Amino acid sequence: MGCNLGQPVFYCSVIFPSTLFYILIAFLFFARLRNIETLSNLLRSVIVLSPEDLLCCVYLCLNQLGPAYMGLELGVGETVLMKAVAQATGRQLDKIKAEAAEKGDLGLVAESSRNNQRIMFQPANLIAGGVFNKLKDIGNMSGNSAMNKKIDIIKGLFVACRFSEARYIVRSLAGKLRIGLAEQSVLAALSQAVCLTPPGQDFPPAVIDAGKGMSAENQKAWIEEKSLILKQTYCAIWDKRLCEFYFLNGFVPFEGIDELPNHCKLTPGVPLRPMLAHPTKGVGEVMKRFDEAAFTCEYKYDGERAQIHILENGEVRIFSRNQEDNTTKYPDIISRIPTVKNESVVSCVLDSEAVAWDREKKQIQPFQVLTTRKRKDVAAADIKVQVCVYAFDLLYLNGESLVKQPLSCRRALLKESFQEKEGEFVFARAIDSDNTDAIAEFLEQSVRDSCEGLMVKTLEKDATYEIAKRSHNWLKLKKDYLDGVGDTMDLCVIGAYLGKGKRTGTYGGFLLACYDEDNEEFQSVCKIGTGFKDEDLEQHYKFLKEHILPNPRPYYRVDQSTEPDLWLDAVQVWEVKCADLSLSPIYKAGMGLCDPEKGISLRFPRFLRIRDDKKPEEATSGGQIADLYRKQQVVQNQGDKADLEDYY
Ligand code: AMP
Repeated sequence: MGCNLGQPVFYCSVIFPSTLFYILIAFLFFARLRNIETLSNLLRSVIVLSPEDLLCCVYLCLNQLGPAYMGLELGVGETVLMKAVAQATGRQLDKIKAEAAEKGDLGLVAESSRNNQRIMFQPANLIAGGVFNKLKDIGNMSGNSAMNKKIDIIKGLFVACRFSEARYIVRSLAGKLRIGLAEQSVLAALSQAVCLTPPGQDFPPAVIDAGKGMSAENQKAWIEEKSLILKQTYCAIWDKRLCEFYFLNGFVPFEGIDELPNHCKLTPGVPLRPMLAHPTKGVGEVMKRFDEAAFTCEYKYDGERAQIHILENGEVRIFSRNQEDNTTKYPDIISRIPTVKNESVVSCVLDSEAVAWDREKKQIQPFQVLTTRKRKDVAAADIKVQVCVYAFDLLYLNGESLVKQPLSCRRALLKESFQEKEGEFVFARAIDSDNTDAIAEFLEQSVRDSCEGLMVKTLEKDATYEIAKRSHNWLKLKKDYLDGVGDTMDLCVIGAYLGKGKRTGTYGGFLLACYDEDNEEFQSVCKIGTGFKDEDLEQHYKFLKEHILPNPRPYYRVDQSTEPDLWLDAVQVWEVKCADLSLSPIYKAGMGLCDPEKGISLRFPRFLRIRDDKKPEEATSGGQIADLYRKQQVVQNQGDKADLEDYY
């Protein structure tokens, strides 16, 4: 396909031999806005020429085989991939391995190996839908001979590759096309594409560019407004069904993005992205933020988020914070649901925290205990770590979405619909008070009761459930404020320094980064070497040595002077505590946000724990770090006159 990346293409063949190639080129070469524009133009071409390929193009861009809760993964390790490259190209495995180590990218090795390959006849060109279906076939294979069958499919793909397609196919298979950073960009591109080239039309020239005639400014505002609807719908149903059902459904004429929420509704059984909270510095800040608005303070339990769905057919499903299906992890919760729900409940979606519970002592156990529980296919009889569900929200009840209702109403319905059962199913403990002393007392009580602190939530005004947002309507007040040592942040490990003395043979320190959403990059924020027990260091070494990179990723923002001995792939998030934050000419976090030339760094960082439940791009952002720095400045500037409450 002769495709000009700067503009949509409406004149070429309906077949997409190199669609994959163009999608990927788009992402590799241009800055974010340019990427969005380019991808949007590509998707517009797809809408006009081959609308049935739109869904698979979106999936290919996201490097996914389907929504997370379906749990479909390729299951192809690097060694298998190397074997496939070797077999398909007739090269020796050792050579492939050595070249991959040298180039740091098996995709490039596959591409150059293909150049040597001689074939009798050229197979049919690859098309986007065909490649995607093959990837899905690979993901669906299990059993004894699955690996060989996977290799056969991969070989088949290689043989049909042209130009640099092999490079991108291999990167897709290795899950290293991107690292999942691009979802927001893909959604923005999709919105722009369907705004300008609405699907489901016969495409007379007039509708191909629906934004024509608008000023650039108006067009931008119009697309942004529609983008928000699309993003919210996407996150609400967390499913590319909105493409499947809507954009691709030739039977339903496209009615415009405004109609999306009416077609793609919150549905029990399909996880939605949870609402998240903003960190605060203390009770004083809560009072300032909420001003006159009524609010409630709930215990912030230290367990695992559990979105519990009761389907109309009686089935119960449980989803994690990242929309993974945790149903088979919690057979105990599933079996107790019928005993705690009232008869009036036919279907619903509950938001809750599953927390480890000591039945004998009747008390909450630390988060670490919960992590020892098996993750999948748990047999009820084998359960050693008991859990109690602390329910704090109701998002859907008997056919109606409640997300637009205020929390006071959702909470009342929650309490009407369920019964508490000690140690099994309990409503989050809460007080509705605006008395500073009472809140400070409740915060201390929450810590004595083994919780992390409080979640403070508006009850009436601005109190809807904001899907997928870190909203200011929910504020978290963590116990760390009590001991006055500072904030905790979730940071990604991107490098390691070799250990000396007692730490020889392992890593002695690490380079941490925050994730900046605007630039889609990891920005260095500190070196860390304290807070680790010996076992921690051993565990980190074992895990991280599998993720060494020959070179830093192009999206790592790091000063030369802090260059680590080993670069690491950004795959793990750590919770880290620091004494305070300072402007830094060396570290890049929040670069330019608080000082035109400087970034922000953490002082005296200390390792607390691994955050398995957070993806690298869910790490604390540069913007959040800048916010924390500014708040700290305000407190410092207040000096002795500072309101003591601010230190809670
Ligand atoms: P964080 O991970 O620090 O951003 O805190 C947010 C997490 O706290 C949520 O994802 C929940 O898993 C958990 N949590 C515990 N108790 C509550 C509560 N009462 N309301 C909302 N979230 C809670």
